[in-house]
Amino acid sequence: MTGARIARSAAALLLVSLWAGPGIATGQSEADRAEAVALGLDGTLETERFAVFWRTEEASAAQVSDLLQTLDDYHAGISTVVGPERTPQRRIVILLDGHGQAPDGTWRFPHVDRTGRVYLYRYSPEFPAYAVEAAHELVHAFRRAAGFWYSGFWEEGFAEAVAMNVDPGDVGFPRYGYPLTVAAGHLLAWEQYVPLAEVRSRHRQLGRQCQLQAYLERAAFFDYLVRLQGIHALVELAYGPGNPGDEDYARVYGKSFEELVSGWEIQLLTEYRATPDAEETARRYRAEPAIASRTFCEAD
Ligand SMILES: [Zn+2]
Repeated sequence: MTGARIARSAAALLLVSLWAGPGIATGQSEADRAEAVALGLDGTLETERFAVFWRTEEASAAQVSDLLQTLDDYHAGISTVVGPERTPQRRIVILLDGHGQAPDGTWRFPHVDRTGRVYLYRYSPEFPAYAVEAAHELVHAFRRAAGFWYSGFWEEGFAEAVAMNVDPGDVGFPRYGYPLTVAAGHLLAWEQYVPLAEVRSRHRQLGRQCQLQAYLERAAFFDYLVRLQGIHALVELAYGPGNPGDEDYARVYGKSFEELVSGWEIQLLTEYRATPDAEETARRYRAEPAIASRTFCEAD
């Protein structure tokens, strides 16, 4: 732990003790606290940017404070990408709700509710594993705080594109550290690809039924858009007056959505075929428990 980190941990701990006092302005509402109690989260910690709830049997306040250093970096990175005027003014509420696999065996996935609360789970025993899924969810929290929320296809793709920008290690779902070229490209090579136009038009249904394909294909497509015109072209669309439609793609990229998709498919498959050991890497990727647990649509 560096000196700066120790100092910041101490500041965070001071806030923990202050929070108990009456009349102290906090980032949390009564509803946030009620939600934390309902989930059995008994620890609270506030920093400049976050109000975090967790189970004290799971980690110490110092461990939570360490985790928040990573989230602070993501917060700063997202703020740089979207601009200070779209950065939340109040603290983002984070609920650390245990392992992704509940005691009854069902899987739970990180998400952000309509009020902008971030629910994080971990998929390995170590406490810092909560950070793995955090960058993508924080982008959603920024969007909610700024009053923006368009279609599922757009929100998920945009969150993934910005997350890749601020967390280049790509350690979260759906890549888990594997190159996107292999993680998404093998779907085309193995003929398990769900047409992206369908993912876009039937997002609510396919995002659940074909979760793995929907997330991978969307992430790879938005990565392609970033490579074409940079992240700021996406930001311009994301904070425009409405859900980006065909005319918006044409205006920003000079091509229709369909033309963009076919260009992307060709490039992804070409890059996959040029990757050494792509097949073997793809087989290992698909065998990862966190991947194998996701819903997947078989080809017709
Ligand atoms: Zn998401």
